[in-house]
Parts: sequence; C-alpha cells; structure tokens
Amino acid sequence: MSVTAVVGAQWGDEGKGRVVDYLADDADLVIRYGGGNNAGHTVVNPHGHFKLHLIPSGIFHPGTRNLLGNGVVINPPALVAELDGLAAAGFDAGNLFIGPAYIDKVARRGIRVIELMEPDAFRERLAATLPRIRRLVAGFGDDEMADAIAEATDERRIADAYLAAGERLRPHVVDGQALVDEALERGERILLEGQLGTMRDIDWGIYPYVTSSSPIPGGASLGAGLPAVKIDQVLGVVKAYTTAVGAGPLPTELEDVDGEQLRERGEEYGTSTGRARRCGWYDAVAVHFSVRLAGYSAIALTKLDVLDGFERIRIGVAYRDLTDGREWTTVPASTSVYERLEPVYEDLPGWQADTTACRSWSDLPQAARTYVERLEALAGAPITHVSVGPERAQMIVRR
Ligand code: GDP
Repeated sequence: MSVTAVVGAQWGDEGKGRVVDYLADDADLVIRYGGGNNAGHTVVNPHGHFKLHLIPSGIFHPGTRNLLGNGVVINPPALVAELDGLAAAGFDAGNLFIGPAYIDKVARRGIRVIELMEPDAFRERLAATLPRIRRLVAGFGDDEMADAIAEATDERRIADAYLAAGERLRPHVVDGQALVDEALERGERILLEGQLGTMRDIDWGIYPYVTSSSPIPGGASLGAGLPAVKIDQVLGVVKAYTTAVGAGPLPTELEDVDGEQLRERGEEYGTSTGRARRCGWYDAVAVHFSVRLAGYSAIALTKLDVLDGFERIRIGVAYRDLTDGREWTTVPASTSVYERLEPVYEDLPGWQADTTACRSWSDLPQAARTYVERLEALAGAPITHVSVGPERAQMIVRR
C-alpha cells in the first residue's frame, strides 16, 4: 500500500541493510537504488551473518522480490560471486531481478545489463569503448605496467568473462520499469534501499568528498525507476554516533580512547574493505541538515547499544570557527570553512547498562531514553525505531 525510501542520514554505514532486512518482512518488493559493489551492507539474521555488496537486503525473505534498480552500477563477475555465496548458504536468489542497470567497471561510458544478454551487441560496444580506456590508462602507467594494462584491457578476455557472467545472470534479467509499474498498480508494499548517506551526496554532500550518485530521496526515485510522487514515506537511518570512511571534514571525530571504544564496540570496520572507520560523537548539525534536505517522515536510530559503556555522552550541537569566533548551526556551503570548524558539545550522562536485551521503549534505562529524546528534538523528526544490536529481534518499535 505504500512506498518507503530507506535513506542514510549521515556519512553511510548507518545500518540501512539491517533496517531493510527488518522491514522487508512486510514488503512485496525491495529495490536497491544506487551505488556499486565497492561498498556493502552487513546483515545479521536467523539465517546467518551476511555481507551484501550489490544484492538488496530483502533477499532473505522468500516472499519478497528484490530488484537492482537502474541507478546501480553492476560488476557482473562480482554479482555472480555474491550469488554463489548466497547459494552456498541455501538461498537460490530466485527472488532477485536486475533492471536496466549499467556496468561501468570496464567502460566508464556504461554498458547496460540488457546488452550483456546480446553477445554481438556487447562485443561491438566493448570494441568501441576499449581504445578510449586504453588511451586513458596509458597515461598513468610506466613501461613495467604496460603488460598489466594490456592484459587488463584485453578484449577477448573481458568479453569471455563478462558474457559468461551474463549467461549466469540471464534468468534474473527483467524489464525493471515494467516490474515496478505493475507492483505500483497492484498497490504492493515497496522499500527503496539506499547506499551511503546524505553527507556523501554528489550534489548536497561535502564536495568533493562525495560519491558519484544521490543517496537522498530524489536519487531514490531516479535510481529505482519510480515516479517521485509515489514515494509515501522516507525513513532516515541514523547511527547513535558518527562514523565516516575516507577523507573530508568530520568535526566530532575522536582520536582518543573514546573513539577507540566506539570503533571496537561498534565493530566499525568496512564491510568490503576491512578498513577502520573514523569515529566520533553524534553530530546533530549534520543530521539536522539531512532532515531538512531529505524530509524524513521518521527516523530509525541504530547502534544505541554501542554507547552502553560510556559515563558521559557528548552531542555536537553546533560548530565554532576558531578564526573568527562565529558559531554555525548549519553545515557550511564551503568545504574549506567546514574543514576548520570545531564542535560545540552538550553533555548527557551515560546509562552504563547493557541495553542489548531491551525489547521495548520502557525496557531502556531512563538515561538512554533521555538521550534518544534529545536527539529527536535536535533532529526535528520522530524517532520511531531504535536498534540495540544487529539481530532482527533487537529492534525496538517506539510508536
Ligand atoms: P549500511 O551500509 O548502512 O547497511 O551499514 P553497514 O552494514 O556498513 O554497517 C552497519 C553495521 O552495524 C553492520 O555490521 C550491522 O550488523 C551492525 N548493526 C546494525 N544495527 C546495529 C545495532 O543496533 N547494534 C549493533 N551493535 N550493531 C548494529
């Protein structure tokens, strides 16, 4: 009956995968709307512990269809490897479909999945694209790299590998737009699954420290192939503290024992890369910026349990520019200004109790409820879900 976009409200890795896995029980269709296999979601459920890179997080519900939207960048051999991994865990992925998504692994100009189904057309497109790619990479390599580049851009090798992957993917390839259209027509419950978060949006994020797509709800319409007016609700996924991967301003970043505690307790290491994430206190300015941009109907707050051990918990409620004393309550448009801002903190007492067994709002310690209520007031959107662990049962539905 409704279409809900699930959107990352910070720098990514908020736990969108776990939220979609939880909500997909009540969904007919889950559409992944952006990103490629360079990032990933981790989902923990009764079937096991899974790292998904391309496949939507609704895949574990046999009654839920899952679609890779046209906004997704597909590396076919990587997708086949992911399907093999799921098959080994007992999932045949018969509920996975691939719309007209594009591949830019070898050809930055994009080859659509449908062309992978037509070997002659694919070879033609590849032959037309490769000389340009060779010219592009030739500028980077020295003589020693020439052989490696020649091998990596060998036309026959690429065509064989990709067409073989194409054959394996053939049963999953559909006209995505028609599938989405019929689902809307039937009034099905649809979830749109995002990747990364607002602060990495190509237009609205911290340029140039951004991704190549739009994680915000506008990108959901575009990347899922669904009219914007059909999105009924937008659920922002917000982590109870801050993490980021890669460079760029991060005012509340901690490089001390508190940051180390967040990283260890929160297992803040990349799903695909294993790289340690930058960690810090909750940044209410960044989340408020995201709320204004994305217009969340509600917020799912994740990883509250990671804060269980702290005596004092800090919230970044504003920024201060030490060069002129100016206080900022919004994210500055200028990245160089943002880079020099320091956080202004408000401190709350910690609860120092284990919340992982809490199953209802009233089970949470009073100080934890106060913290969530404070975040809600600062965000200006209702926090309807609070998660206290990665398992499905560890989701508290507040209202
Ligand atoms: P996504 O890309 O937004 O889906 O996020 P990731 O999968 O990169 O990171 C979220 C990680 O946090 C995953 O390993 C989840 O299993 C884990 N996780 C999600 N929710 C919770 C929670 O409430 N508590 C704890 N401790 N871990 C969580």
